[in-house]
Amino acid sequence: MGSANVRSQAIQAIAAAKHTLNRVNFKEIHLKDLFGDNVFNVEVQRQRLPKNVFKALQKTIRQGATLDPAIADNVATAMKDWAMEKGATHFTHLFQPMTGLTAEKHDSFLVPTADGKAITEFSGKELVRGEPDASSFPSGGIRATFEARGYTAWDPTSPAFIHEGPNGATLVIPTAFLSWTGEALDKKTPLLRSMEVLSTQALRVLRLFGNTEAHKVFTTVGPEQEYFLIDKNFYYARPDLINAGRTLFGARPPKGQELEDQYFGSIPERVLACMAEVEAELFKLAVPVKTRHNEVAPSQYEIAPIFEDSNLATDHQMLTMEMLRRIADKYGLACLLHEKPFAGINGSGKHNNWSMSTDTGENLLNPGDTPHDNAQFLVFCVAVIRAVARYPELLRVSVSGAANDHRLGANEAPPAIISIFLGDQLQDVMDQLEQGSPKSTKQGGFMEIGVSVLPKLPRDPGDRNRTSPFAFTGNKFEFRAVGASQSIAGPNTVLNTIVAESLDYVATYLEKAVASGKDLHKAIQDLLPGILKESKKVIFNGDNYSEEWHKEAERRGLPNLRNTVDALPVILRKDSIDLFTKYKVYSERELQSRYTILCEHYVKTVNIEGQLTAMMARTMILPAALRYQGEVAATVNATKAAGVDNSAQSELLKSLTSTITAFQAATATLEKALHHHAAGDVFAHAKYARDSILIAMNEVRGLGDKLEMIVADDLWPLPTYREMLFIK
Ligand code: ADP
Ligand code: MG
Repeated sequence: MGSANVRSQAIQAIAAAKHTLNRVNFKEIHLKDLFGDNVFNVEVQRQRLPKNVFKALQKTIRQGATLDPAIADNVATAMKDWAMEKGATHFTHLFQPMTGLTAEKHDSFLVPTADGKAITEFSGKELVRGEPDASSFPSGGIRATFEARGYTAWDPTSPAFIHEGPNGATLVIPTAFLSWTGEALDKKTPLLRSMEVLSTQALRVLRLFGNTEAHKVFTTVGPEQEYFLIDKNFYYARPDLINAGRTLFGARPPKGQELEDQYFGSIPERVLACMAEVEAELFKLAVPVKTRHNEVAPSQYEIAPIFEDSNLATDHQMLTMEMLRRIADKYGLACLLHEKPFAGINGSGKHNNWSMSTDTGENLLNPGDTPHDNAQFLVFCVAVIRAVARYPELLRVSVSGAANDHRLGANEAPPAIISIFLGDQLQDVMDQLEQGSPKSTKQGGFMEIGVSVLPKLPRDPGDRNRTSPFAFTGNKFEFRAVGASQSIAGPNTVLNTIVAESLDYVATYLEKAVASGKDLHKAIQDLLPGILKESKKVIFNGDNYSEEWHKEAERRGLPNLRNTVDALPVILRKDSIDLFTKYKVYSERELQSRYTILCEHYVKTVNIEGQLTAMMARTMILPAALRYQGEVAATVNATKAAGVDNSAQSELLKSLTSTITAFQAATATLEKALHHHAAGDVFAHAKYARDSILIAMNEVRGLGDKLEMIVADDLWPLPTYREMLFIK
């Protein structure tokens, strides 16, 4: 028997499997009780902390006041007692190193005593600072191994929580991760810095409008996560999925997503059960999950929370990805978070819905019913437009990576050209603004449905546009280029910083004008049209996928950084360094380190994929093809001996043989490319990976997929697209 066993066994196992689907009982556990049950939240803090300690902690959380170390001991003890009641034996600092994942190291609360017994202890010092060995995390040259010290620092603005395990729980403390020279080795620290910068600049603008109540402006984020779920039996039979997160081979299935029968379709039972448990676990951690649905591609889904402040939203997003992977496993499913697990059908992104809000709850991008006379909204909105127009390449590079390259610029949601969609209503207001002072706002009115039993529906003043990388969607902007597996920290750090720079510019102008006796609204009218004139080249309300747009964008001089290697040098450009160092979001060394890490990551990713492609080509696909070739050759000989016309069989043998020969040659070329070591620095290596290895890989894949369409099905060793995507 051939190796087809792997596939038929997988399918048989799936058909026979009985999964325990009723694992959470929402009749007994009410949503509202579940929510935040495992979080050391304000309510728990109030109950368990002395009043003065509680107040000091709240001041830190709400206003960013520096925390008095004296109160840390109090907080730590209360946390430990609470956690132990919840079954915790250990605590860990959770941090977000430059791997883009989270990292943790657990320590128990146990302290042995002189009498041979033990007590439990958790000190303020342990809460506030940890010291994991930093040497095994990417630092991009910030830290040599001889100075391996790295510190984790408690982030009191993201509450501690309980991670339940099968044998005891762990108290998890969100932290920032720094080198002992104080440089950020993580993704959280720059995000927090960028939020502070934006807050400072936004408050300046608000003060001009007479707002004295707001003490802080924070950015809000609601990230929509797309992902695939496929049966684990298939997953285990695909070395590429296990090791690269995406399929490196696989012919297009006869049925893909063309019938459009998946999007918002009814959710398969096992998947629904899995989603519900993911949500239940996330509710316990106070992650405000709101929406679930089928996505466009077969076996693709989405989970979206209600927005929160960016720091918390980022932490919660990391938890969401982890929970999806972990819980899927319990249902016999593998969760694929890769940006493009399957060629030829939609990939997965993470729409980053973004706005700015005051601590008094005002959304600064809410246009109200009449944006034309909402000067404050116009100032903030135009500041965002200016930021995107000035720094489109920074936004582009913030979402770069080998995996996301298969989406961006690859004829799929959104292109690599950064542009803004405003929609009819806002575009109209901006057009008026550019000409002077806007006088009116187009209203949506009501839709005529033509069925009297249905209620009249108010029409939105602007239609939706699904193709824009950066779209205004009512009261927020949606940055859609973020990849499904990426941390949202980087893109939001960039977004916050570039908008802070714009707000700084606007505030400086307006403050001066007002100080010299000018009326604020007059000053705004003087300022905004100029900004719009300068920035409007980045606005595009049409179809971003069209060939015309690509030409038009080029004519407008908009950058089109098609892939990661094209995008990465932006990080070290003078204007980028000037921007980030001016606002102290990244130091020059921190930028240099991120550039190095991203180059290295690209090279490593492509190399791993290249090795896997060569390995699978040689040890899985070629043997199957050779076996089939042997069978066909035997048939050709037998028919010849029998004296019948075998010209069709001979033809098959010929074309099969030539495909196999080409496949072997392409594999050899790939192997040669993999063995060659490009001279030069890490960027030269990245270029080489893109221009030699990736191209050689694609060649092997093309021929491998051709073989899949010729070789006998019972000999084919890899679960196929039509199986992985449709057998549930
Ligand atoms: P879509 O139609 O784009 O799929 P969804 O309703 O699924 O939209 O998701 C919209 C996301 O935008 C949600 O996560 C929502 O909480 C978030 N959102 C809404 N208002 C804001 C805001 N002011 N700031 C940030 N995110 C927001
Ligand atoms: Mg969306």
